[in-house]
Amino acid sequence: ETLDKGLEKSKSSFLSKLTKAVAGKSKVDDEVLDNLEEILVSSDVGVDTTLKIIDRIEARVAKDKYLGTEELNKILREEIAGLLSETNAGEETEYTIPADKKPYVLMVVGVNGVGKTTTIGKLAHQFNKQGLKVVLGAADTFRAAAIDQLQVWADRVGVPLVKQSMGSDPASVAFDTLKSGVAQDADVIIIDTAGRLHNKINLMKELTKVKMVMKKVIDDAPHDVLLVLDGSTGQNAFEQAKQFTAATEVTTLAVTKLDGTAKGGVVIGISDQFKIPVKYIGVGEGIEDLQVFNKYEFVDSFFS
Ligand code: GDP
Repeated sequence: ETLDKGLEKSKSSFLSKLTKAVAGKSKVDDEVLDNLEEILVSSDVGVDTTLKIIDRIEARVAKDKYLGTEELNKILREEIAGLLSETNAGEETEYTIPADKKPYVLMVVGVNGVGKTTTIGKLAHQFNKQGLKVVLGAADTFRAAAIDQLQVWADRVGVPLVKQSMGSDPASVAFDTLKSGVAQDADVIIIDTAGRLHNKINLMKELTKVKMVMKKVIDDAPHDVLLVLDGSTGQNAFEQAKQFTAATEVTTLAVTKLDGTAKGGVVIGISDQFKIPVKYIGVGEGIEDLQVFNKYEFVDSFFS
């Protein structure tokens, strides 16, 4: 429902553009395909993924001898669902962590402002609601505000936060957090990290060091590296995904701010281009406004 509401803009604009693109047409010709390409690119699906979708449609339309908006819509929908399926496993609806990994260590990365702290707070709340013991770690020591904000979320959710003063060694905070988590018999440990991209080498070094130090406490930590991307920023989100996947091994994605954007297409392009599953989507600023990504629901909202 929230997702439906959130994607209403993209839904209406996508459908109305699509309808316009085929208005008065009796077959899918180059003009229709060009228009479709433009619609997909302007919905932030990304050029490479758009071309892939257009190729697939071309192949099918030649074979199927199409027409009608409805038919084109159906084919498009199938192809996009197919693309999402290549990277995104199932129709999860719950926040689950593997039972055999305790504590489960989740390292969260992403550029400042994308909604990293908020996503950590929401996740902590979800796990906490399940009766799991959550410990947070403030390893973004670069900004005092980052530590303060995470403290606000920790207090709101009612979970402990391990922190040091601003400017301290992020790896040391991560180490302390894992030690503390183990000592407290935590189920989930969520570590915030700095999101400075202006110096890629330093970021890479820092993230590598944080990960190495974690292994001194829990040898297979981190179990997940979650990259948070702002879904409303289109090309920026693609660029950040590129930079972060180059800097560290990213295992899952969270795409935020899908409530206010006409461009939910970024989810399609990013998961296709980077072959990393989208695990969570942010659909508002509130504590409950995080959803486990469900590709079927997503496609439904995008196309219905
Ligand atoms: P950080 O710098 O990456 O830690 O970003 P914050 O978590 O501080 O979030 C930046 C702003 O984005 C805040 O005003 C959040 O309330 C807002 N925000 C985060 N996630 C969402 C979301 O899913 N939807 C909307 N509308 N706003 C969000």
